[in-house]
This record gives sequence, C-alpha cells and structure tokens, in this order.
Amino acid sequence: MDLDEYQRGALRTAAPRDKKNELLHLVLGLTGESGEVAEKFKKWIRDQDSDESKLDRADIAKELGDVLWYLAVLADYLNLSLDDIATTNLTKLSSRQHRGVLNGSGDNR
Ligand SMILES: [Mg+2]
Repeated sequence: MDLDEYQRGALRTAAPRDKKNELLHLVLGLTGESGEVAEKFKKWIRDQDSDESKLDRADIAKELGDVLWYLAVLADYLNLSLDDIATTNLTKLSSRQHRGVLNGSGDNR
C-alpha cells in the first residue's frame, strides 16, 4: 500500500471537512495520539525498567497507526498528499546528509 492509498482509506472513516472545528480536532488528535505513544514508553520505563525485550510492539504499533490516521487526514484537510510529504521529507534529509548538516539545527538548513 502506498501512502496516498492509505490516505484515501483513512478518509473513509474521517468526519466531513466542513464539520465545526474539524481542523482543530485533527491537530489535537495528532498530538494526542503522539502523546499516547509517549505514554506507552513512560509506562515501559516505569514498569519494565526500560527492558527492550518487554516492549509491547503490537500495542505501540496500534498507537502509531492512530498517529498515521490523524496525519493522513490532517494532510488531506490541508490539500497535501501523504506521498508528497514523505518524498519531500526524504529529499530534505538526503540533502542535509550530503551537505553534512544532518545533525545541525534550524528548519531550513
Ligand atoms: Mg490511540
């Protein structure tokens, strides 16, 4: 499955764009689900002594899927293709790597 295909699939379970406060809902949903990923790791540190053999990868994958859903639907709301976002990101990182600034700071380096 390519990313645009996933994005089209995610939209089948999304609210209509014109629903009141839909953009804010999507932004908060993305950050909330990202927080749920972080929460899994917080509990892993607290309860599993950061033992990687005890990471519940299937549970984390479900939360990463929720992040992906909100990312896909938010991107669509902004008329952005998930494929294009991914391609642009890889191009940016490759350029930084070739110029030796991968570990620097600043969004536009
Ligand atoms: Mg979730």
